[in-house]
Amino acid sequence: MFKNHPRGLPVLFFTEMWERFGFYLMLGIFVLYMTDPADATNAAMGGLAMADREASDIFGTYLALVYLTPFVGGLLADRVIGYSRAIIFGGLLMGFGYCGLAIPGMGITFWLSLLLIIIGNGFFKPNISALVGNLYDQQERYRPWKEAGFNIFYMGINIGAFVCNFVAAVARNKIGWWAAFMAAGIGMFLGVAWFIAGRKHIAEADVMKPAKPGDEPVGRILGRVFGPAAAFAVLGWFGVPALLGAKATVFGSNSNDAFLFACIPVVWFYVSLWRKAEGEDRERVGALLPIFGVVVVFWAVFHQNGSALTVWADRFTDRGMPPSTAAAAKTFDLVEEVDTSLRPVPKTDAHGVRLLDDAGKPIEVEGPHPYFNNLPKAEWTAPEVKKPLFSTELFQSINAFFVVLLTPFVVGVWAWMARRGKEPSTPGKISIGLLITALSTLVMVAATYATHNGMEKASWLWLAGTYAVITVGELCLSPMGLSLVSKLSPPRLTALMMGGWFLSTAIGNKLSGLLSGLMDAFEHKSVIFLINFGAALFAALLIAIMVPRLRGVMQRYVGK
Ligand code: GLN
Repeated sequence: MFKNHPRGLPVLFFTEMWERFGFYLMLGIFVLYMTDPADATNAAMGGLAMADREASDIFGTYLALVYLTPFVGGLLADRVIGYSRAIIFGGLLMGFGYCGLAIPGMGITFWLSLLLIIIGNGFFKPNISALVGNLYDQQERYRPWKEAGFNIFYMGINIGAFVCNFVAAVARNKIGWWAAFMAAGIGMFLGVAWFIAGRKHIAEADVMKPAKPGDEPVGRILGRVFGPAAAFAVLGWFGVPALLGAKATVFGSNSNDAFLFACIPVVWFYVSLWRKAEGEDRERVGALLPIFGVVVVFWAVFHQNGSALTVWADRFTDRGMPPSTAAAAKTFDLVEEVDTSLRPVPKTDAHGVRLLDDAGKPIEVEGPHPYFNNLPKAEWTAPEVKKPLFSTELFQSINAFFVVLLTPFVVGVWAWMARRGKEPSTPGKISIGLLITALSTLVMVAATYATHNGMEKASWLWLAGTYAVITVGELCLSPMGLSLVSKLSPPRLTALMMGGWFLSTAIGNKLSGLLSGLMDAFEHKSVIFLINFGAALFAALLIAIMVPRLRGVMQRYVGK
């Protein structure tokens, strides 16, 4: 697999694999941990007993902030500390953050740990991606392999993301929450150790390009962005209700408003980078910015995997498993057991929409486990009999599994097209990726009709199908985006521009929460997926229109 590629690629591949192992392990259990009721008999098994809403707000804000910091980490690496040091520093911070979450409770260690991870990712993520690209710029013979290199790197990301959910399930069910968080921390430290051990293979790529005379000093940039960002956040959080009325929000919640307002100065910083640049730099940055803008839509649709699609897996998908599988799965604690004995459950309509009282609180009634809501009575078990189900978290691994499975297929298709002289340009691939993403949402539209709008359980094949399609879209877009940033950035700003790429993830992530929150707002569940369809299609067309211009810029400066 690493044949034809620089010696440094396996170093970065496994470092990033371990980093993402920890990252997605924590992400996969974070909401479950926060909402898990305290356990009086065994403290290690109990979580933070937080309300759903509060937990998902913290989750959404965390997921947005963790991708906002790469902009600062990239800037500092480009100009001050260099890529390797930034990666080691960021990795250690994240490792300590995960271990810190192993300390129970919501005291200072909880918030401090989250902060460490958020800052750590800022130093780690853009810089390891920038280094991958730099490896290929060192020698002429490696250059044509850059895109394939990013594809391989992306597989490493997803091997980590695939395995971690199983480790998390076993650790938390067999030992307790702390063990799962420790596993994330240990994985991260292993990644750092691997990186340090292989550092000599990337030494050549770890060179900082000198700043240009006109470049603004780092301190000034930070002052110019941080101050206004903080002011905008305050305006979003407090100003909007003060100006528009106590309950008013612009983007659905105070935290959305604060975050998205705070992004305005950061986005403006990138725009002014372009406005002030001249000649070649101006063209290069000018080609990347519209792509960043458009891929926001991709992440807004894609990251509903953690919300809308997980709700679909949890409530509307047939997760029943045959007894033979159940025995094996139980040894690994990958099973959720439900029964029909009565307990307080959220009241829903026939389509699974949770009903609220006048104060907006969920109404509770006595009923069997909610899983039975849309299951015909004939399939109900007797009250004392447990029904084994595949744990909902396991559906989180499907996407990563498909990345590993389908990467060779997608790379093969490009190679096949290349032999015919028809391989699309990198921006062309991004546009195709968005088109395929649009199509993936139609699979879910079909699923909502097949289940009579949630009245019956859906086969898990619908989810597998939508994930398979969106993963092909992701493979045309996400690794290609990293490669494109590496090719088009002015060399002295590579990591900063990587930060811009992740900034679009951050904004997309926040919007994804907003979109999936609409799921219950419409009578028919297909509406939310149709909105996703329209957004992705629109974004695909926008990029398609820009392709000729972007291709021109690439031909001028990168030769392809
Ligand atoms: N899944 C990819 C990763 O973890 C892409 C994440 C992103 O850019 N939003 O790197």
